[in-house]
Amino acid sequence: MAINNKKQCCSFCGRDGDKVEMLIEGLHGYICNDCARGAWEVVEANTHPKAVKHGHNGFSTDFRQIPKPKEIKTFLDEYVIGQDEAKKTLAVAVYNHYKRLSQKSETEKDDVEIEKSNIIMVGSTGTGKTLLARTIARLINVPFTIVDATVFTEAGYVGEDIESILTRLLQAADYNEKAAECGIVFVDEIDKIARKGDNPSITRDVSGEGVQQGLLKMLEGSVVNVPPKGGRKHPDQEYIHLDTRNILFICGGAFDGIERKIAQRMNTHVVGYNSVQNTLKIDKDNLMKYVMPQDLRSFGLIPEIIGRLPVLTYLNPLDRDALRRILTEPRNSIIRQYKKIMEMDGVQMEVDDTALDFIVDKAVEYKLGARGLRSIVEGILRDALFEIPSSRQRRFKLTESYAREHLNENLTLSPAGAS
Ligand code: ADP
Repeated sequence: MAINNKKQCCSFCGRDGDKVEMLIEGLHGYICNDCARGAWEVVEANTHPKAVKHGHNGFSTDFRQIPKPKEIKTFLDEYVIGQDEAKKTLAVAVYNHYKRLSQKSETEKDDVEIEKSNIIMVGSTGTGKTLLARTIARLINVPFTIVDATVFTEAGYVGEDIESILTRLLQAADYNEKAAECGIVFVDEIDKIARKGDNPSITRDVSGEGVQQGLLKMLEGSVVNVPPKGGRKHPDQEYIHLDTRNILFICGGAFDGIERKIAQRMNTHVVGYNSVQNTLKIDKDNLMKYVMPQDLRSFGLIPEIIGRLPVLTYLNPLDRDALRRILTEPRNSIIRQYKKIMEMDGVQMEVDDTALDFIVDKAVEYKLGARGLRSIVEGILRDALFEIPSSRQRRFKLTESYAREHLNENLTLSPAGAS
């Protein structure tokens, strides 16, 4: 490939080599730097043809421009394994969010005003809640931000004010207030702000109920004073007033131990008439799928918050089969990522099925779920990733025996319960 040949011209725009910064030679012609960039943009725009095209302010609120719920789910399927219930719920919620935003004229609103349905997702850690939220964010074209509820405390205490959620949304919207007011916020670890005990007077519950009250105001829809730079470090900054009525909140949490509350509730309900048949039908290994709003209440969320999160969905625990699929199937699966890393050094990596089985076995043994897969693969491949770039090796085969040998050497994780 030759570059900058002044005697030649670009086969796309026809400009001579001396009129452009760079000419790249192909088999039968040339392309200049500008046309190459233009071509790349066309490819980008069409790689995900269903992604929402940008509106005039960079964000679009027309639901006709966004994929239908089934298409949203198909897109999610490319990145997230299983979790069909949660995917369908999210797809419908996001699509309807756009419909509400499309209700522009007041007359339309007078007719039937669509209210927003904030969502709460319940599922053990590492089952894909954040991944779902991130993947949705790739597809849609409203400002989107992910915040962690654990960092918030009641105003006046060490930690972040709850209003900083909106600061982040504002930043995601490039400080376009109107766009931010139509955005979507994913609040992770919402279970961590559950009320700690029944008696709040013993110690102040600064990161529990107080934060829930603050969050409630936003979920309900109100005008909130948002510090544009966030935090309490800039007390002099002028506030921006954001109306949260149209912001969609998606909350996620592991709710560790909620299965016990679900079991208690179900036991009390199945006693009596028809109890034998009901008990037989219950899938005891996955009680999470029976989660109801009252279980969230028993867990420590205040009823007002639960009322403002009317769509409740769950994520399934990941079994061996799901873990195995997560390793290889998603578009940017862990194995594909490491293959890419090696490919960049000109090395082709092959992975034996038995090596994959071994990795899954270890993830199950360490009780690390999908989160553990990456550390295990990293542990196994560390030496190869260290050696290969400086060697002449062009192929690398990951076999079970290689995995077994190198994992023991490199992984410092200990099996759950061993520490
Ligand atoms: P959570 O938010 O539920 O704690 P995450 O979404 O952060 O879990 O998942 C952690 C990692 O595990 C992700 O980055 C992803 O690589 C992997 N993962 C988890 N669940 C899935 C899934 N259902 N499909 C594909 N990958 C998954």
